[in-house]
Amino acid sequence: MTADSGLDGFVLTRMAAAKINLALHVVGQRADGHHLLESLVTFADAGDRIGISPDTDDRFTVSGPFAEDVPLSGDNLVLRARDLLRRHQTEHGAEAPPVHIHLEKNLPVASGIGGGSADAAATLQGLMALWKADPGADERLAMALKLGADVPMCLDGRPLISSGIGETLAALKTFPAFPMLLVNPRRAVSTPVIFRTLVNKTNSPMPSLDDARTTLEWLNAMQAMRNDLEPPARALEPSIAAVSAALSDTGPRLVRMSGSGATCFALYATDAERDAAAVRLSQRHPGWYVLACHSAAGGTNDSQG
Ligand code: ATP
Repeated sequence: MTADSGLDGFVLTRMAAAKINLALHVVGQRADGHHLLESLVTFADAGDRIGISPDTDDRFTVSGPFAEDVPLSGDNLVLRARDLLRRHQTEHGAEAPPVHIHLEKNLPVASGIGGGSADAAATLQGLMALWKADPGADERLAMALKLGADVPMCLDGRPLISSGIGETLAALKTFPAFPMLLVNPRRAVSTPVIFRTLVNKTNSPMPSLDDARTTLEWLNAMQAMRNDLEPPARALEPSIAAVSAALSDTGPRLVRMSGSGATCFALYATDAERDAAAVRLSQRHPGWYVLACHSAAGGTNDSQG
């Protein structure tokens, strides 16, 4: 299983929670090629884990079930986040001493649940704490966007609606937590390839969610939404249809693909129903990645800073 011991003794550890696009509408494309999206997003209470400690030299180590799928070089989003924050510190005459960062890679890579973005966000947060760095809200957002469109939402970590190219975030005042299953057929899907094969780039926006309060109202609202990346992803990766159908067979309240796939999620009424579904799917499809978890509840009155 997971090499948990990889994080023993680190000065600071953080969870890099899986991001779930409960709905994702592609509503336009900017002249520079960036897609304009509207997405209802929540986070799982599970994900990768990051450990950080001061060291005499910079070091980066990786463990976990998907360790071999991530680059160990400067391309890793963990290292890009470290280097970006260090540059900011240096430019402001502040300290950014060497660190050992360990990544426990528990989430499948290129799977639509934002593992790399979550790792980058957790690294930024961890190093901001360790280096006592306070770039301010605008600079923090700029740094996050430089690392990826999903990094700002991962920095926030609460159920929210994102729009634009990922820079506009509105936290949800009420949002229910759901027993949730994440299932991935262990087939990597490239986000840029899915966007390239997307034909209609000006789909209808998400409906207003202002009136949704109860769990039932949220479920009804989510049923009326969609993931515009699901049709091109299914065309490219046929196993997504199999995952979605298998999840639908387990009696969930909602099934949909997250991000650009191939991970699909299902929301359940109870933990017991979710757990029974997890056992059934793992037995029938031993090659699939199956994660039983909960989605985060909303409920703060803050808006994103
Ligand atoms: P999204 O849902 O935001 O589209 P994803 O889950 O589809 O993301 P990631 O797992 O974040 O995709 O990986 C996308 C690419 O980023 C991969 O090709 C991978 O090589 C690269 N990458 C760099 N650093 C990491 C990291 N720490 N974890 C995962 N992938 C990383």
